Amino acid sequence: MAWTAHTIIQNGRAIPFEDARIHPLSVGLAYGAAVFEGIRAYINPATGRLSVFRLEEHLIRLDQGIKFMRFDDPPSRDVLRQGVMDAIMANAPDDDCYIRLQVHIESRGSMATTGTVGWVCAAIPRERSTKRESGLAAGVSSWVRISDNTMPARIKATANYHAGRIATQQAKADGYDTPILLTREGKVSETAGACLFMVRDGVVITPARDSDILESVTRDTVLELARENGFTTQERRADRTELYVADEVFVCGTGQELLPVTSIDRLAVGDGKPGVITLRLQAAYESVVRGTTDAHAAWRTPVA
Ligand code: PMP
Repeated sequence: MAWTAHTIIQNGRAIPFEDARIHPLSVGLAYGAAVFEGIRAYINPATGRLSVFRLEEHLIRLDQGIKFMRFDDPPSRDVLRQGVMDAIMANAPDDDCYIRLQVHIESRGSMATTGTVGWVCAAIPRERSTKRESGLAAGVSSWVRISDNTMPARIKATANYHAGRIATQQAKADGYDTPILLTREGKVSETAGACLFMVRDGVVITPARDSDILESVTRDTVLELARENGFTTQERRADRTELYVADEVFVCGTGQELLPVTSIDRLAVGDGKPGVITLRLQAAYESVVRGTTDAHAAWRTPVA
């Protein structure tokens, strides 16, 4: 992974990466009026070509966020799609890349202001988690997941990550790799940056969409792959204690990809090693994102 990002796209213009600017008093920064997507593009080992994974689904979710934020005159989906392609091509990466696409209020003002909407798209290198094989040590957080009627997790707003960051910092201080957050009702929600799955008696279970989760693209992908691999799946509310008695637990998201969880609150998950179903789904995910299978070609947008 030798490449570095030297160019960034800001409001449709390619500029040197370090020259991107936003005023500190912009509503986007001062009041957290910003939504974003984290997207990955993967190299196919046979062709050496990059393709973006599930770009359209990310753009649709971003549109939902833009609508919810009541942004005036936002960039269209076509403009943002082109921005993603431009950000990648301008940097000519020779390896996988991570793309951050963000739409924010650029002008100064108050909470009541909508103002000028700006956007930025960066394509940068991002190492994979070092815990892909060994698995994560997770701790159930004393911080509670943001809830739909205060700060909806369904909307991928940058401000949500204030709550995620508090829980992550606490988890790290307590010696864990990641927090697991519960809803106000005490049901399992997700981590600060990934969705959560567990396996019980061969059934692949993930908290339902009304569990204050981000409606994750990877979660949807994993559910589909699990079904294709012959597993029964359930999207339902899940109790905290199910985490301790589950045979396997894993997390998934664009950034973290698919990572085993091998302990929770210092109790081993299963036998304390990544589970067989987890590893099977991790391999299935790897081949679908990279296109080493012909299946789901529509999920991969080639970088022209
Ligand atoms: N939950 C949270 C809180 C996240 O930040 C992310 C990463 N965007 C995910 C889940 C996974 O979402 P996706 O699969 O769409 O990347």
